[in-house]
Amino acid sequence: MGRRFDDAEGNRPVSADRLDDDHEGNHKPIGDATRVVTAGRRPEWTQGVVNPPVWRASTHLYDTVGDLRAAGGRDTHHRLFYGRRGAPTQWSLAEALTELEPGAEATFLYPSGVAAIAAALLSVLSPGDELLLTDSAYDPTRSMATGLLKRFGISTRFYDPLIGAGIADLIGERTRAIFMESPGSLTFEVQDVPAIVAAAKARGVTTLLDNTWATPLHFRAIEQGVDLSILACTKYIVGHSDVMLGSVTATAPHWRKLRETSFQLGQVVSPDDAWLGSRGLRTMAVRLAHHQASALKIAQWLEGRPEVDRVLHPALPSCPGHGIFTRDFRGSSGLFSFVLVGGGEAARSALIDGLRHFGIGYSWGGFESLAIPVDPGNYRTATRPDFAGPVVRLQIGLEDSDDLIADLAAGLERFAAVRG
Ligand SMILES: *Cc1c(COP(=O)(O)O)cnc(C)c1O
Repeated sequence: MGRRFDDAEGNRPVSADRLDDDHEGNHKPIGDATRVVTAGRRPEWTQGVVNPPVWRASTHLYDTVGDLRAAGGRDTHHRLFYGRRGAPTQWSLAEALTELEPGAEATFLYPSGVAAIAAALLSVLSPGDELLLTDSAYDPTRSMATGLLKRFGISTRFYDPLIGAGIADLIGERTRAIFMESPGSLTFEVQDVPAIVAAAKARGVTTLLDNTWATPLHFRAIEQGVDLSILACTKYIVGHSDVMLGSVTATAPHWRKLRETSFQLGQVVSPDDAWLGSRGLRTMAVRLAHHQASALKIAQWLEGRPEVDRVLHPALPSCPGHGIFTRDFRGSSGLFSFVLVGGGEAARSALIDGLRHFGIGYSWGGFESLAIPVDPGNYRTATRPDFAGPVVRLQIGLEDSDDLIADLAAGLERFAAVRG
């Protein structure tokens, strides 16, 4: 039994290039929509159906003691060994995510995006090291740095997300890693990832990127030089607001350390959740295209409204880092913020509370629209965002954009009535 899924390539994950080879072995790139449909569907994992089945197991059985010892005595990647190492359901999703990041070597899955961030950071950092962390980072990432990492003797310095090549001046003797999030998921500054990566490489510093907003379809993190690309798969991979899931995709020099750390931390994703992740992934290209078009239309409409001071959307020229966005990204997604003109908490709540088509709740990336108040100033330490009024973050779902615009128009009138 243990031999059944042996990796023909000596336990190395299959590289993303494999799918691009035609029958004669010639290199011929395929499109993103084709890739999300086909990626990770090895026949030995799908067993004759389209999506990999849910492969529930803790114990794997062997024919003999000899087989059992042989399985444990070797590298156990892509081998049935024990439930914690996963089975074809998880391997298929992980391999699909690797295939979406050209140049990547392997992907590991985690029970949430935050768990993925923790495993990635712990695979790179040791006591005495310093982490450079973007000031625009997702708040739980900040808390991990200032809490858990600090407790284990790792210090953090926060940097301005617009620092670009200037990051070189912050890299010191103890700096081991730079953690980027681009765009920032509340304020949407786009970072100059290639410039930061170049400065890091010159000093032997590892780079990590939270790529949740763009996904590998709209920002190819590994191709841009990032060492570890992190996704909260909870968002666009799953796409239906019903599963928590995370991933880290790594380059060749980093994947073994990441795997060792993940195994030692005991990280494993249930096959049901991995299966739902695979199921979501198959439609991600078409979902993302709708999220992108609808969000952009709504963002542009908001820009023309007198109640709105600024719209923070990377595809709009008014967004910090927009030039970098047009240079490096292949598209945008459905999440952005807007800044109101004046008003306070009561006026902002009047806008949000009465919305009919937007849920009020955390997370994003599902098929349904969401609206929340955000107060980015509360989190920052290296930079001070200066906004003319309260900020609202929208996740634009797959509804008709005209319905969402009408809903927001009524909301802005409620806002203006309370603000006076
Ligand atoms: C949601 C989110 C995370 C964390 O993912 P979970 O699956 O909720 O733990 C990390 N980074 C960003 C940018 C996110 O939006």
